[in-house]
Parts: sequence; structure tokens; C-alpha cells
Amino acid sequence: MSLRKVYLAKRVANEAVDGWLDDHAVIIDQDRIESVLPGSHLPRDIAENAEVHNLGDVSLLPGLIDAHCHMHCSATANALQHAMTDTDQQLTMRAVTAMRRALLAGTTTIRDIGSRNDVAFPVREAIKSGTIPGPRLLVSGQPITITAGHCWFFSSQADTTEGVVKAVRTQVRLGADLIKVMATGGMFTPTANPARPQYSTETLREAVEEAERVGIPIVAHTLAAEGVQRCVEAGVHHHIHARWRARDPDPSLDYRPDVVARLVDLGHWVDPTIGHIYRGTLASHQSAGRSGSAASASTDGHLELLRRMDEAGVRFTSGLDMGMPHAPHDGTAANAWAFVDWMGWSPWRALRTLTRATSEAIGLGDTVGQIKPGLVADLAAFDGDPAADIRQLDIASSVVQAGDLVKHNQQTLV
Ligand SMILES: [Zn+2]
Repeated sequence: MSLRKVYLAKRVANEAVDGWLDDHAVIIDQDRIESVLPGSHLPRDIAENAEVHNLGDVSLLPGLIDAHCHMHCSATANALQHAMTDTDQQLTMRAVTAMRRALLAGTTTIRDIGSRNDVAFPVREAIKSGTIPGPRLLVSGQPITITAGHCWFFSSQADTTEGVVKAVRTQVRLGADLIKVMATGGMFTPTANPARPQYSTETLREAVEEAERVGIPIVAHTLAAEGVQRCVEAGVHHHIHARWRARDPDPSLDYRPDVVARLVDLGHWVDPTIGHIYRGTLASHQSAGRSGSAASASTDGHLELLRRMDEAGVRFTSGLDMGMPHAPHDGTAANAWAFVDWMGWSPWRALRTLTRATSEAIGLGDTVGQIKPGLVADLAAFDGDPAADIRQLDIASSVVQAGDLVKHNQQTLV
């Protein structure tokens, strides 16, 4: 019989993830949260019936969730070269290392939306079986793109509606938790055009139909206004980037309020990949010897549109685009920094987005994302108080996965 576990912390996030419970204890039975109590209410003989860990002066949050990862991409300036030329064995070793780093940073759930099938599915299974350490993973496997389209080197290439539907079915057969489609070109691929759509609305609609037929969600990469419009019309469930590039460079942006209103009505989600842009901005300031996080003029235009989407009621998720240059697999916290610093959000709204909201968006709201009785005990402890200063949310000092410590006071245990 395994003992109950108790984790005490100076600050424990409440169920709603909008305030601290001071000096509270989280009591765990097996892998689930049983109750949350003031530390002073613990029975005197608790240590006889449970394994008690006092994590000390930390802020205990639900484990962080990132909805946008490429597990086998190197997150370096050479990420494109690596993705194009590495063997599956090299990519697998990268992915194994990256997933351990993510977990030890406090990101206990990740949705991978674009990695080679021969890497993504075995890594997910190895984590599930306990062979290697890593976060709970939902994986799409290979994205679906046009020939020579965005990320073709780790995608399934399909050009016709029939081809796209077949590619969806193939991913389902391999065990995909969701489908990823590249609805426009992207920056990461020299032969793709980020200002133009890759698929017609009709093709996207058929892909949505097919995913819905087997009961899994479909997410789409979109950098162009025409692409966002087509994805919204087709009923895509989660929009990745959702940028508003115009077909022609002048003016460069083409915001469509009617499309946003429709998106809000549908209740679908947007991953603005804002942490990735933020980390890239910090890096460029640093290399120029400047301090601060001021956005460039071109980023400013984009941020203005994100604020308009926010005001219109769009629901945002986390999603760093882990694996791209400036987006390391242990860097999820930057999403929260950007929401606070660039979008003017309260720290609690940002913390809620990286936990509760994103768990709902990826269909795991009944499993993780809150410190609440009945949910899986995935917890991340941060030194300092991220609700007072969001930059205190960075690399977790202690991490609990399904009730077990995998990192304790900076010491890694897996
Ligand atoms: Zn991506």
C-alpha cells in the first residue's frame, strides 16, 4: 500500500487560479489530489500515515501546460538545418532530452503539434510507460502541408482534398491525439509563402469533417488573413498564430473584425505564440547591448491586433512554439511574461491561461490545470511570487508529477 503524500507550501494557488492560499497543504492519494487544507489543520500524526514534504517559501501552481511544441526541433539558430538533415535517431535523442527539460522546468503537460511520426508516437509511448521522464503528451504527429509547403521536411505532403483527407486518416491510424494542418506558409520554410493560404476553405472543411468523424480536434497554423478567414469558415478548433498578414505587402496587415466575431461566436481558441515573439525580442535587445522588452515597430502592429482580438472576446492559450529558434522547451513561462508585459493582463490572468484555460482548450480540463480534489497531482513550485512579479515564473524549483517529486529544491530526481 502506498502512503499518501503531502506537499506544504507558503503559497498554494486556489482552485480558480486567481489567488493564493497561505501556508496550505496539498494531500495526494495515489496520483490524484485528495484535498487542500491549511497546514495548521493537518492531523498531528500525519507523518505516520503520509510522506510529508515541506516545499517552503514557494508559490505552488498547477503544472504548466504548453499547447504548441515541436519536440524534436533544436530551439537553436540552426533549428531549420537540424530539422531538414537530422536522422530520425538524432531527432529522437533531441526529443527525449527536450521533454525531460520541459518537465523539470515545471511544464507537466505538452501538446506537440508537429514532429515526425517515427519520433512523436514512440516518445509519447515511452513517457506513458515510464521508460523516460517527460510531460503528459498529446501529439498530432506529422502536420499536413502542401508539397514543399510549410515544414514539409517533417510533414505529410498532400495537395488535394482527397490527399488531405487520406493524410488525416493516416494520422488517426497511427494514434494521433489531434490533427495539425498548415493552412498558410510560414517563416521556418524557405519554399513556403507566409502571406498566402496553402489550402482552400473546402479542403480545410473536409479535413475538419474527417477529424470530427473520429472525435479528435484539428488545429491550424495561420500567418495570413486569408488563411485565418478560411480556417474560421471551415470550423478549425484551435488557431495557431492567427496573424493577419495581407496578401500584398502594403498595407502589411489585413485585420478582419467580422472573422474575429465569428471565431468568438464559435468559442474556438487562439494560440498567439506571444511568448516566442517576446523571447526573440529579448534576445535581439540583448545582442544589441540594450535592456528592456520594448517591441519593434512591426511587432507593435501585430500586438495591437492581438489586443483588438482580446477586446473582442477571443480566448487565448499558451503555446510557445517550442523548438523554434528562441523557443527552448523549458521556456513556457515567457508566454506569461508577454501576456502581462505586452497585453496588459494581470499576472493571475496569465497564470490561469498557462494552466486552467489551456487545459480546457486541449480537452484535459477534467484531468489537469487546477489544484483541485479529483484532478491529477501535477504541480510546479516557483521561488518568489509570480502573482506579484510575473518574471518569478521561470524554471520551477520543485516539480510534482502524478503525485511524485521529479525535482525537489533544484535537485533533479529523474
Ligand atoms: Zn509551430
